[in-house]
Amino acid sequence: MLKEFFTGVVDLLYPLHCLICAERIETKEFGPLCSVCFQKIAWNLPPFCSKCGRNIPVELSTENVCLDCKKRRHYFDRAWSVALYTGIMRECIHKFKYEGKLGLVHFFEKILFDFIERFVPIEKFDYLIPVPLHYTKLREREFNQALLLAQPIAKKFQKKLLTGVLYRKKFTAPQTELNAPQRRKNIQGAFGIRKQNILTKKNILIIDDVFTTGSTVDECAKLLKRNGANIVDVLSIAC
Ligand SMILES: [Zn+2]
Ligand SMILES: [Zn+2]
Repeated sequence: MLKEFFTGVVDLLYPLHCLICAERIETKEFGPLCSVCFQKIAWNLPPFCSKCGRNIPVELSTENVCLDCKKRRHYFDRAWSVALYTGIMRECIHKFKYEGKLGLVHFFEKILFDFIERFVPIEKFDYLIPVPLHYTKLREREFNQALLLAQPIAKKFQKKLLTGVLYRKKFTAPQTELNAPQRRKNIQGAFGIRKQNILTKKNILIIDDVFTTGSTVDECAKLLKRNGANIVDVLSIAC
């Protein structure tokens, strides 16, 4: 029984089977994934749109912005995402967020660190702000995925993690079922600010798990800027 217990604990710490396909994992190099699944991840690669940070077709890259960002202005200055929100990465995020597989945070932090070191001018930011959850949501989920992602980044790059200044004052319907204009309307007025003095002329990096239409982080950026913030950028795992 004792042996079984220890095997169980070891399995938890170092999963032997791929989280996605359940094949045996031969190396820890790819975290909780096998090498086959890891290689299937669709990374978000340059050239990036200089606004939303999505990969843009090479033929558009001289213009720097994607067709979407040409049509609509954003309040944030620019966004970055590590991967595309599809396939394996989408499954990983779902397991993390909805199935509470929190061990995945170590995998996410590794790919976030790599991405930051390659692309993000992290030195310019004064604060990291994870997108806050409404307390009703937090009670239900028991964790804020954006905070779990922001914590290791703050530690690694020695940035101040600001929680509680930007807060969620309105409980909103989930954005997933809504189209872009509905999302913008749904999220309007959802956030509030406390102690706005500390935001004056500060550069802020908002952290979230997924960037879809950008309406949530845009609403955050709008409020942060109205309260004195200088640059507001966004970093997410997937877009
Ligand atoms: Zn696999
Ligand atoms: Zn764009």
